[in-house]
Amino acid sequence: MIDLYYTSEGAHSPAPKYYRKEQKHLARLQNLLARAKKDSPKWKKLLKAVQRAHCRIKCMRKDFLHKEANGILGKSSLVVHEDLKICNMIRRPKPKQDADGKYLPDWAFWKSGINKSIADMGWRMFLDFVGYKATWQRKNVIAVPPHYTSQSCPDCGDIVKKTLSTRTHVCPCGCRIHRDHAAAINILRIGLNTLAGKAA
Ligand SMILES: [Zn+2]
Repeated sequence: MIDLYYTSEGAHSPAPKYYRKEQKHLARLQNLLARAKKDSPKWKKLLKAVQRAHCRIKCMRKDFLHKEANGILGKSSLVVHEDLKICNMIRRPKPKQDADGKYLPDWAFWKSGINKSIADMGWRMFLDFVGYKATWQRKNVIAVPPHYTSQSCPDCGDIVKKTLSTRTHVCPCGCRIHRDHAAAINILRIGLNTLAGKAA
């Protein structure tokens, strides 16, 4: 199961079932559309169905992201996330994170969906929602550089090399934890250090 985010406390957010179901449905329709004869009555009908499915997914995504953003901010007064280029994020699942609890969304969830523009929009939208809701609530959101956040051990600080398919962080020091959870803890630490540095 792939998550939208992963927090430093280990909370994570799987995509809702109905959302994945709708995405599968859309993929099927798009397949049929691609094989239908262009401009035929069948093709036109399928085109409409594809457009409707896109619309539904758009609404669901927005709704889901609003709820998740509210959920994150409800539990935290500070959100720290990785400052990642959107395109990188879509190419490889990467975390973002919230602090207090913190977060790592894992973008394979979006990537596994229908197309990159959907993934891209989902990500931007989520960060936008978190950003403006935080402003309303006078909470802080900070982005930190992603370097080594997924490779460092949250317990001892050593670098533990992992490929993208390695989902568990296992360190000789004895630390064993989900890789996104480990990254979330590292990201929170960087964010807190950044804030402490500013205050000093
Ligand atoms: Zn370690």
